[in-house]
Amino acid sequence: MSTPTPSAPNKLQKLRESFIGQLPAQLEAIREMLAALGTTEPPAEKMEDFHRAIHSLKGSSAAFGLKGLSAVTAEAEDLAKEVMNAGWDPASPWRETMKERLAQVEKAIQAVGSGQETDPVRLDLAAAEAIHSGADRKRIYLCEDDPFQLSSLTTQIGCFGFEVTGFAKLEEFQAAVDTSAPDAIVMDMVHPGRRTGGAQIVERIRAGGGRGVPVVFISMESDMGSRLAAVRVGCDAYFVKPADPTELCATLHALTSNEKPEPYRIVIVEDDSHLSEMYGTILHEAGMETRTLTDPMQALPLLREFQPDLVLMDMHMPGCSGLELAAVIRQMKEYLSIPIVFLSGETDPDLQFDARRKGGDEFLHKTIKPEHLVAAVAVRAQRMKLLRSFMVRDSMTGLFNHSSIKEHLDIAVTRAQRAGENVCFAMIDLDHFKGVNDRYGHAAGDKVLVAMANLLRQRLRKSDIIGRYGGEELAVILPGSSMQEAVALMDQLRRCFENIRFPVGEDTFTVTFSCGVASLESHDNPEKLCLAADQSLYTAKKEGRNRVVAAGRFISTTQLKAMRVLVVDDAPPILAILVNMLEQIGFAKISTANNGQEAWNVLKAGRVDLVIADWHMPRMNGFELLKAVRGDSALSGLPFVMITSESDKKSVREAILAGVSEYILKPVYSEELSNKIIRALCKPPSAAAPAPK
Ligand code: GH3
Ligand code: MG
Ligand code: MG
Ligand code: MG
Repeated sequence: MSTPTPSAPNKLQKLRESFIGQLPAQLEAIREMLAALGTTEPPAEKMEDFHRAIHSLKGSSAAFGLKGLSAVTAEAEDLAKEVMNAGWDPASPWRETMKERLAQVEKAIQAVGSGQETDPVRLDLAAAEAIHSGADRKRIYLCEDDPFQLSSLTTQIGCFGFEVTGFAKLEEFQAAVDTSAPDAIVMDMVHPGRRTGGAQIVERIRAGGGRGVPVVFISMESDMGSRLAAVRVGCDAYFVKPADPTELCATLHALTSNEKPEPYRIVIVEDDSHLSEMYGTILHEAGMETRTLTDPMQALPLLREFQPDLVLMDMHMPGCSGLELAAVIRQMKEYLSIPIVFLSGETDPDLQFDARRKGGDEFLHKTIKPEHLVAAVAVRAQRMKLLRSFMVRDSMTGLFNHSSIKEHLDIAVTRAQRAGENVCFAMIDLDHFKGVNDRYGHAAGDKVLVAMANLLRQRLRKSDIIGRYGGEELAVILPGSSMQEAVALMDQLRRCFENIRFPVGEDTFTVTFSCGVASLESHDNPEKLCLAADQSLYTAKKEGRNRVVAAGRFISTTQLKAMRVLVVDDAPPILAILVNMLEQIGFAKISTANNGQEAWNVLKAGRVDLVIADWHMPRMNGFELLKAVRGDSALSGLPFVMITSESDKKSVREAILAGVSEYILKPVYSEELSNKIIRALCKPPSAAAPAPK
C-alpha cells in the first residue's frame, strides 16, 4: 500500500498535457476564422473575435510556460491588432503575412508536441510548501502487516516532516526498495507465519541495493532472540511496540539528517588588515565563521550581533589596546566567559602574564603555524559553545530558554529592519495541559512537551528560532516569513500535532495547541511583537483553542473558506488554472463565468464576495464588467481584481480610474495572486475606487 497525496503540481501537469493536446485544433479554429474573414471588409465583431482567439492562445501558452509558442503567437496577435485598429485596406497584404505567422505558430506547436519545449510550468503553487518542507524531506519506507498500525504510524511519522510510504507485504516492500532505495526503513519484525520475517528481508536488502540504508525495527517482542536477529542484519535501532512516535522520529531524524554542526563563530580584532584577513582565511578554511574588525572601538555592537564563540585579538592597536578591550569586554556580565585569545609579536613573559590577568585565556605568538592556530581556537570555542548551550538552552526540551529567545527576537528584528525584510513571531500554548498532567501524570505531560519541541525542530527551517517561553508555552521566530506564510505554517504544525497519539499503557491520547502570530509589518518592535502574539494567543484560547490567530488585519483560512469568489475568463485552460490556484490559496466556494455577461448574471443573482476577471472577453469584457459593478448601488464596494495582459499604462490607468481594487499582469503566478487578493479584501470599500487625479 502506498499513500501518495494528489499534489497541485500533478494536477496542473495534467491540465498542461491536455492543453498541449488540443493545440492543433485551436490553431485550426484560428485558421478557419481567418478564412471566414473573406476578402471584403468583415464586420468589426468578426475581426475582434479573430484577434481575441489569437490573444487567448498567447495568454494560455504563456501561463503553461510555453515561452516559444507564446512569443510567436504574440507576433500574430500584434498583426491582428494592427489590422483591427487601422481600418479596412483592401490593398494590404496582411493575410499573407498572417498565414506566415500562423505557420510559425504551427511549428512552435509541433516543437511543444515533440517535447522540444520542455520548459516546465512555473508552479510556484508548490513554492510555499517547499519553503519549509519540500527540498529535504526524507523518504521513509514503513513495512508493517497490521493495517491499523500501518496507517496510524504512516500518519504520525508523516507529521514529523518525513515522506512516508507504507507497505503491508514484505514482497511489495522489497520490490519498492529494489526500484528506489529510501533514506531509511522502519520494519516490523514479526510477520504472519514468520517470527523474524522482518530481519530476513532486511538481510536480503542489505545484500542488494539497500546496503547503506538505515533500518529501525519495531516489534512486539523484546526477547534476546528477536533483538539478536535485528543486530545480526545490521539494525540501527530497535523499538518495542507501541513505539513512541516522538522517539521513533527523533531516531529517524538523527539517522537521516545530513546537517552539519553549527560552525564556530570567531571575531578577529586586528588593526593590520592584511593580518586580519590572513587569520580570517585560515580559520574560515578550517570551517569556522569569522568576522574581522580593524577598529577596536567598533567591537561591542559586533559582539552583540554576531554572538561569537571566541575573540581573537591583537595586543597593540591604536585607540584602544588589546588589554584594554579585553578588560572592557570582561566588565559585561554576558561576556564573562567568552574566550579571548591574544595574538602578538611580543615574547615578553611579564606582558603575557599581564594579559592573562586582564582576562585573556591564551597568548599566542604571531608566528604560530596555521594548524596550531586552528587547534588553539577550536578547543576554546568548543568549550564556549557547550557552556553557552547550558546557559541558553532549556534542559528538558533543548530549546532556547526564555531570556535567550527574547534576545534572539531583538537580534532578528534588528537584522530584518536593516535588510528591509519581515519577521514573524509566534507564541504557542498547549491546550488544557493541566488536565493532561492530572489525568496521565506529570511525566506523560513532559513527553508531550518534548514531542512538541521535536515537531517544531524537525518541521521548521534552520533559520527559524524556537524557544521555551514558559512552562507549557513555546515561541518561534520566523525570519523572512510573511504573515500569511507564518500562519499557514503554524496551522500546518497545529494539524500535525493534533494527530500525534501519545501512548499511556494500552491506550493513547492526543493534545492540541493554540497559537498567536504577530508580524513586524504591523508591530514594529520586539515588545509590540510579543504583546501582539500574546494577545492573539489569548484570542485563540477564547475562540475555542486548537487554532492559530493572526494579530492585526489578516484574512484567516476559515474566512477564505466561507468566501464566495467568482472567476471570469473566456479561455477554459486559464480558468482551470485560476480555479486551481484559488483552491490552493484556501478558497472553497469558487464559481466561474466565461464572459462578462455571464458574470453579471451571477452577480445579480446572488451573493459574491470577490470578483477576479480577465480584461479581454467576448460580449462584455472585464473592463465593462468593472464599470457595471462600480455603477451598481448594491455591488459598488465589491473587491474586484482584474487580470490583464495589457501592460500599456493606458488601460491600467483606465482600470484604476474605474475603481479596480487590484490588477495583475499575465501570466499569473499564485503568490502574486494571493498577495493581491488579500490586499483587495483588506482594503476598506471606500479605498476600492480611488478618486481620479
Ligand atoms: P489552557 O488551554 O487555557 O492553556 O489550559 P491549561 O491547563 O494548559 O493552562 P494553565 O495555565 O491553567 O495550566 C498550565 C499547566 O501546564 C499547569 C502546569 O502544571 C503545566 N506545566 C507547565 N510546565 C510544565 C512542564 O514542564 N511539565 C509538565 N508536565 N507540565 C507543565
Ligand atoms: Mg506484525
Ligand atoms: Mg597592531
Ligand atoms: Mg495551556
